[in-house]
Amino acid sequence: MRLVFAAAFMLCGACATRQAPLPPIPAEVRAWQDAVDWDEAGDEAVDLLAEYLKIDTSNPPGGEFEGAMYLAAQLDRDDIPWKTYEIAPGRTSIVGRLAAKDPTAPPLCLVSHIDVVPADAAEWPEESGPFSGVIDEEGMLWGRGALDMKGLGTAELQVMALLKRLDAPLRRDVLLVAVADEEVNNLGMIQLVEDHWDDLNCAYVINEGAYGVVDALFEGQTVHAISVGEKGALWLEVIARGEPGHGSTPLPDTAIDRLRQAMARIDERTAKPDWHPMMMELLANVGNHRGGFSGGVLRRPAMVKSLARGKILANPLTRASLTTTFNLTGLQGAEGFNVVPHRAVARYDIRLQPEVTAEEVVAEIEELVAGIPTIEVKVARTFGGAVSEWRGDPVYEAIASHAIDGRPDAVAGPFLSIGFTDSIFARHKGARAYGYAPFVIDRELLETMHGHRERIPVDQVREGARRLFGIVVQTAVDVAQAPPSAPAKGRAVAPVLMPHEEPAAAPSDEGPPQDASDDPASPSQD
Ligand SMILES: [Zn+2]
Repeated sequence: MRLVFAAAFMLCGACATRQAPLPPIPAEVRAWQDAVDWDEAGDEAVDLLAEYLKIDTSNPPGGEFEGAMYLAAQLDRDDIPWKTYEIAPGRTSIVGRLAAKDPTAPPLCLVSHIDVVPADAAEWPEESGPFSGVIDEEGMLWGRGALDMKGLGTAELQVMALLKRLDAPLRRDVLLVAVADEEVNNLGMIQLVEDHWDDLNCAYVINEGAYGVVDALFEGQTVHAISVGEKGALWLEVIARGEPGHGSTPLPDTAIDRLRQAMARIDERTAKPDWHPMMMELLANVGNHRGGFSGGVLRRPAMVKSLARGKILANPLTRASLTTTFNLTGLQGAEGFNVVPHRAVARYDIRLQPEVTAEEVVAEIEELVAGIPTIEVKVARTFGGAVSEWRGDPVYEAIASHAIDGRPDAVAGPFLSIGFTDSIFARHKGARAYGYAPFVIDRELLETMHGHRERIPVDQVREGARRLFGIVVQTAVDVAQAPPSAPAKGRAVAPVLMPHEEPAAAPSDEGPPQDASDDPASPSQD
């Protein structure tokens, strides 16, 4: 086997994938990055996140209003106009806007969600609980949402503030879009996309989706997978019916028997891998960066498909990235032990490859279960996957360049997310969305997202703001104009702004405080 491997490796020398190198970061962009006092701005980034983490926006129930008002108070410090959108009482999304004077390109939207998944405080350390915002002696900032995703949300907020403080000449509007309800029903983003897309008109979205992960595939290598697409979802029920009865008397052909037959046939389907170009490009980049024998395999698509296939499909994560997956996530029948139900239900969470439609999969299931009496296939919710073009895209390239800048151990590449985020709804409106959190973490920390003890290294909070600032400058600022010579500094965090309060007074060098009620773009809250 090893010999075959080596022979194929040599024969395949010509078929290795060689990516065009990423364009270098322009000196003008670095000049803007250097126009910020990053010691002070880094302190501010940490304070902003720590305070945000203290606000409990657990969803359910959500309670994003207070989170939105916190962001509003910070935007007010810098006279950045904002507008709120309510999905339900106490559940609010907020959009802040830096308007370009003469925009030559459509908006760049910095998207985050305000809500977090619930946390069981008993599973967290007493002194650094889920809403503590505490920094421990190892330099970790604790709180539910540190990674998912108040961390990126505050980096985005701070980028807005720094652009404003530097009076950056924008080529396009830059929007801060912080939404409610990402973690449950995506109602905040869906509302913006369906009812207010004309206001937003995001050509580009930067949102959650992936982190830089240390030792992701090989020890000593950090991989920045940039999410350029997401799988679709098809949530469906397979329902069987039959004669009800008493548990003491087994009869043939009950609803449960029929459902079991249907489930067995569905289990038999085989998933064909879809070797999509994102996966191939990411593996090739990893291979080129890693070098050596394994690297040589990874940058040869033909060898990945033949020789690495088994390993890739055996890993649940890479398998999910390459196939349409069926996951049986629920079963329902009668409540009592002694009752034969008249109706039995199997629930499937099916995740669709981007080019696979729900109709195709439903037809496939109906064909598989054909002939079993009474079986009904019922769709509960579905939406298709989507991929944003990344090849040659300037925003994607800026993200990839800044992700690995000054990090010889790091490599970046495109990635298909196996879960979905709010980006999917923007993608369906034609926006190019990229999932990228500018933080490097290890796998242990990655698992704290939606788990216990979520936390983020403070040095990453500081560094992440700087990298995201560079990306936004490169893609939204007319860098031919030089930055001002006095550096932009950090600011003290403003307390949460509740609607009955006056906005926090801006410091005197920023002009008079903005009266929110005079601004047409200001709060629609009552
Ligand atoms: Zn999230």
